[in-house]
Amino acid sequence: MPMLEADSSNATVFAAFPRDWYSVRLENGATDPYGLDKTKKGTGLMAVCNLVIETGELADRRVFPPYRVLVGGNKEDGRPHDMGRCYQLINATRIEWTCSKCSFVGGNGMDIKEDTKRFKWLCPNCDQESTFKFNSDHFWGKRIKVLLGQEKGLNSDAMVNSVERLAPLS
Ligand SMILES: [Zn+2]
Repeated sequence: MPMLEADSSNATVFAAFPRDWYSVRLENGATDPYGLDKTKKGTGLMAVCNLVIETGELADRRVFPPYRVLVGGNKEDGRPHDMGRCYQLINATRIEWTCSKCSFVGGNGMDIKEDTKRFKWLCPNCDQESTFKFNSDHFWGKRIKVLLGQEKGLNSDAMVNSVERLAPLS
């Protein structure tokens, strides 16, 4: 076995960032040029978002782990994935979308209506729930606000950041 030496002052394991609101920039965190990963089972597609902090003493630091958002496809049993995070991300980033019911093109979020069971995302033109078309690569470079929390990492007691809420930058 070769004897190795490693300088411990080069060991950078970052602590989770404090719970707070941060302005972040979205960068493609996947190896795919469009920023999409496939789920291990089924046909799900996830946008892998690196959240890069924009201001303050943590500027240019990247939130760990990347924020993964299901943006389409089906589970192993054929049922569609929950698109809740996807619609929160579309509304926070203000990317362009097209309503498949009325062909309206929006770029300023959908109307969100609170129902007894869940939030509804309505086309502001036809006032209906719809299938909205969008390009995942429009997420990259967009700036939003996120409320970061902390949770235990997978297979570890160390704390990592979680994303509790998203909001448009202004
Ligand atoms: Zn519509």
